[in-house]
Order: sequence, then C-alpha cells, then structure tokens
Amino acid sequence: MDFNDSPDEAAYRAEVRTWLDANAARRKDTAWTDEEDSSSMAASKAWQAKKAAAGYAQITWPKAWGGPGGTPIQQVIFNQEEANYDTPPNPFQIGLGMCVPTVMTFADDATKQRFVTPALKGEEIWCQLFSEPAGGSDVAAARTRAVKDGDEWVINGQKVWTTGAQFSDFGIVLVRTNVETPKHKGLTMFWLDMKSPGVEVKPIHQMSGGSGFNEVYFTDVRVKDSQRLGAVDDGWKVALVTLMNERLAVGGSTGAQYGDILKLAREVMGAAGPALKDDGFREKLAEWFVQTEGLKLTRFRTMTALSRGQTPGPESSIGKVIAAKQMQDLANEAVEMEDQYGILWDEGASPLKAAFQNSLMFAPGLRIAGGTDEILKNIIAERVLGLPGDIRVDKDVAFKDAPTGR
Ligand SMILES: Cc1cc2nc3c(=O)[nH]c(=O)nc-3n(C[C@H](O)[C@H](O)[C@H](O)COP(=O)(O)OP(=O)(O)OC[C@H]3O[C@@H](n4cnc5c(N)ncnc54)[C@H](O)[C@@H]3O)c2cc1C
Repeated sequence: MDFNDSPDEAAYRAEVRTWLDANAARRKDTAWTDEEDSSSMAASKAWQAKKAAAGYAQITWPKAWGGPGGTPIQQVIFNQEEANYDTPPNPFQIGLGMCVPTVMTFADDATKQRFVTPALKGEEIWCQLFSEPAGGSDVAAARTRAVKDGDEWVINGQKVWTTGAQFSDFGIVLVRTNVETPKHKGLTMFWLDMKSPGVEVKPIHQMSGGSGFNEVYFTDVRVKDSQRLGAVDDGWKVALVTLMNERLAVGGSTGAQYGDILKLAREVMGAAGPALKDDGFREKLAEWFVQTEGLKLTRFRTMTALSRGQTPGPESSIGKVIAAKQMQDLANEAVEMEDQYGILWDEGASPLKAAFQNSLMFAPGLRIAGGTDEILKNIIAERVLGLPGDIRVDKDVAFKDAPTGR
C-alpha cells in the first residue's frame, strides 16, 4: 500500500491547492455540506462552471467532452482538497457521476453531443429515476410501465426518493417493458426531459429540514424510441453501468468526525469533570479511533488501486457501512453529552455550528442511500468473503408471476 503521494501526485495536489486558494475560502469549521435548494442553485452552477473552465470538473473525462483527460487518482486528490474549502452544495453529483456516464456509454453521438458538455459545465442537472415504492434495494423489481406506441413509448407509474428531481432538467428512467420474462430481463432505460407533459414532481420533506428528494409520478408520459439507452428489455445491463459508477464515487467525508467528538468531550463538563474522563465514553472513543484508522487505511487501499490504474473492488462497500454508522453513533453520543442543550439545533448557538445535530438528522438517510447497510453487507459477504449468495425466489419466474406479498 502507498501512504504518500507519488512525486506527480504531490505536484498535482500543490497545483490544485493553489487554484483553490485563489478561488475559494478555506473552511474553518467542521465539513458540513448543506443540502441544495433553489436559493443556492445559482452559486452551485457558477462554481461548477469555474471548475470546468479550469479543468477541474470531471477530471477523468476526455478532452472531447470538455474534461481534461486526467486520471482517477487526480479526481480523488481534487475531491480531498476541495473538501477543505467552503464551496456551494453540489447538485451535479448524480448527473455527472451516474446519469451522464450512462448516456456516454449507451446513447448515439448526436445525443452525447447535445448533453455531455452542458452537464459538465453545470448548465443542466440530471436525476436518477430508479427506486419505486415496491423496488429500492431490489431495483430490478421496477413496476413503472412503458408501452410502445408507434415511434414512441408511453410511461405510467411512480418513482420515489429521486434526489434533485425538482431542480433537474433531465433524468434517466428505468421502466418495465416486458412482464413475461424474469424481472431482470424485462426492463428498458430511457433519458427524458423532466418538463415533459405528465411528469409530476412532489418534494418529500425530510427530518433534516430539507427536501432533497421527491416522489415523481408519470401519467401517459411520451418519450421517443430514440431516447432509449441500450436495447429493449436490456435495461438491467444499462442500470448496472449506472450503479457501478455510483460505487466508484470516492471523496472526502462530510459531517462531524472522530476529532470533533474528542474536542467536544474535552469541553463538556459532567459531575466528575470533562466528559473525556468518563471510562464508558473512553471505551467508545477507543472503538471509534480504531474504526477511523481502519477507514483511513481502506481509503489508502482504494487510492493505491487508483494510482496503479486498477479499479477498486467491492471492498469500497466496507467504507460506507462503517462510516455511515459511525456518523450516526458519534452524533447520538454527542447530543446525549450536550444533555439538555443537545436538543438545541442552531448553527449560531450549538457547539461546532450544530455539526452533530446535522449529522444526527442526516445519518439515517446515509445508511440507506446508494445501498442499505444490509445490502452492502450482502455484497461484502458474497463478493469479498465468497459466502453463499442471497436466496432469490423470483430468479427464473416471469415478472407477472413473481410473488408480491399482496
Ligand atoms: C438520501 C437518499 C437519496 C436517494 N436518492 C435516490 C435517487 O436519486 N434515485 C433513486 O432511484 N433512489 C434514490 N434513493 C433510494 C435508495 O436507493 C433506496 O432507498 C434504497 O435502495 C433502499 O430501498 P428502499 O428504500 O425501497 O428499502 P427496501 O429495499 O424496501 O428495504 C427495507 C429494509 O429491508 C432490508 N432489505 C431489503 N432487501 C434485503 C436483502 N436482500 N437482504 C437483507 N435485507 C434486505 C433493507 O436493508 C432495509 O433495511 C435515495 C435514498 C436516500 C435515503
């Protein structure tokens, strides 16, 4: 494992820092990325355009599509450094990290010419319309139907938890086109304009205060056959490309960390002195320290693979399982430690600008998004440890005959 930057990587990091110093303010407080809302959108778009002009947006994308044609390790270095600066929320992650790469893989040249560069420059936002009320972990169980009508398809159904749909210009949508085949073999993917007649977006209000994701209803929404990504009934293959790109997303951590709870425990006084002196707390602290070091080393392993031009393996799932739970545990402990003041959720009055209160509200979602703890543990069990696969009762059953629990 490599613990240090290579000379080239160190030079790139220095160049990135110089650019960031000239274009953004250094972050003074604990990293907390606000959820995007319409008020921050202009600032987000301006920051993305600035990065694109300087060659720091989608660093691995080829020059032909407006990227600088850099390496994955350069992208990771930029993400790490950018996390140290105050920058606007990033509503482009899903589009640039997942949707547009799928378009780049499966669309015709004219479609790519139309969409890739505007997305890179932050001019257009994309969302990922996969999850449904009856299919989140089991994405292949999608029930939203598309029926062919001449040169068009007519879509009816509902998606849910669609991040950023209310700000999005376009989306990629996974729909069922065949119920006679097993679930994975009757799906098709399309791109669509989110302003199409019949698309209704309803924001979901979250306990974190924001409305990051939405319900999206489709009523007789018409898309052209030329908007299809991949072959008819072969949408699972397309969805896998999107989901693989999701797994490859590596970056700096958000939210209150081990160092923050240590700082808090030095300051908060209990009956017997600072909380840091409490034996029970120190035991938990030791466990979080070990986890934090483990996460750091696992990230080094991912970085080493990227630096050597390899693709990181499913072990990156370990990082999310541990980090999301640790975020929730630290927040629970910190809010308890603050006692009656813990319920005060005010960036002006709560310790560390309410970083732990924000984490407390955000962490449960993090344990679900992009694969729940249980699903990621299944991946680790099957693909890392080589344990027997999960039971799949509907594997060879036509979708229309699959048990639904109703
Ligand atoms: C913040 C956030 C943003 C999101 N953004 C998007 C988005 O932009 N686009 C999109 O399409 N979706 C999005 N999602 C949805 C997300 O992908 C799903 O919530 C997630 O995949 C889980 O699906 P579900 O909610 O239907 O839960 P379910 O799949 O119904 O799971 C319910 C429970 O059962 C467990 N479970 C399910 N299957 C198994 C199994 N085989 N073995 C063991 N346990 C199992 C789960 O772990 C969970 O505890 C987002 C979710 C969140 C929280």
